[in-house]
Amino acid sequence: MQKGTFQWMKSINKTIVLNKIRMSGPISRAQIAKETNLTPPTVSSIVKELLDEQFVVESQQGQSSGGRKPTMLVLNHKGFYVLGVDVGPVKIRTVLTDLNGKVLFSHSAYLPAFVTNKSLLDMLKAEISNMLKNASTSIGQLLGIGIGMHGIVDHKHGISLFAPSLNLRNIPIKEELEHYFQVAVKVENDARAMALGETWFVSDQNESGTVVTINVGNGIGAGIVVDGKLLHGEHSLAGEIGHMSIDLGGSKCTCGNFGCLQTLASGTAIKERALKELTMGKKSCLNELADGDLDRIEASTIYQAARLGDPLSIDLLTNTGIYLGIGITNLIHLLNPTKIIISGGISNAKDFLLTAIKETVSARALTVQAKNTEIIASKLGEYSAAIGSVVLILADIFSVDLVEC
Ligand SMILES: [Zn+2]
Repeated sequence: MQKGTFQWMKSINKTIVLNKIRMSGPISRAQIAKETNLTPPTVSSIVKELLDEQFVVESQQGQSSGGRKPTMLVLNHKGFYVLGVDVGPVKIRTVLTDLNGKVLFSHSAYLPAFVTNKSLLDMLKAEISNMLKNASTSIGQLLGIGIGMHGIVDHKHGISLFAPSLNLRNIPIKEELEHYFQVAVKVENDARAMALGETWFVSDQNESGTVVTINVGNGIGAGIVVDGKLLHGEHSLAGEIGHMSIDLGGSKCTCGNFGCLQTLASGTAIKERALKELTMGKKSCLNELADGDLDRIEASTIYQAARLGDPLSIDLLTNTGIYLGIGITNLIHLLNPTKIIISGGISNAKDFLLTAIKETVSARALTVQAKNTEIIASKLGEYSAAIGSVVLILADIFSVDLVEC
């Protein structure tokens, strides 16, 4: 157990005061003391430190209940910024946000067809450097870089242990980037970063229960938040639902197994099924949308065609929803979550997917409550994992215990 030394207690109290100002500002010193149960002198001394460090600024005068009007405190959200990077199997997406998590700049770049540990790290350095250059000097100080990496991640040491889609192992992301940029770097699995983002920006951080955020893009993974804390499992494997076996005789997955959920319901799987149907001569407007070049068809093209009423694309998305529904039913039986959030590239096609997912869960889940588990699409959009990666740094500053579980 961690000893309650003076230094440590002081830092916990500082986090409490800083978070109070973030959540409730503009707020007076007296109100902070009242709402945190800290003594007024403790609050005053912590606020002085926070003012000196420029995390907090004094704003307008508040209402007085007689006597002098109190000075209100707010977060200096423009004084600092955080960088978040989502390293997916196909793209690297980067965002720069202020202290409130407001996205100031965003950029995405395709990975080349072949990457090595070194070339991936070089590309990360280049993407981050470009973003920092674009940001100019008008904004404040960089607090840290959060990386959401797909695959298995050792979040404590910031190492990508295995990225099956790129066939890379043991990439020392934290060590390399901290050395290069000289700021704090935190690395987490991309789906867990996404789940953190949902908890931080959309849900209530103090919400109890289990919330599962499923990242459906070129791969499938899930971030599990239990009573406000991320679940990692013994060896960082918790949430790897993309590699749940669904079809015993199914096709080979990037992980080496056969018939994983990912081989049936990921963006890549949808694209492969579309190409197979088109090669067999199925009529569809996908050909036109891709200007006759089948290689240009992506999951997003199929979504676009479905919106135009293309029967093949609607079928493909409905079938994907059924496969996801089967995986989600298994997940409900395993974890009995309060809420499931569908995120990642495929959440754009939510109009077509959610109905099929819900119908499948409703047909297969064990009880009435399980059948009615809340299943929604994320509102954070394409950059949800990058925005979630920003929270890796924000949580370190504002939260006592959000990240560990
Ligand atoms: Zn697999």
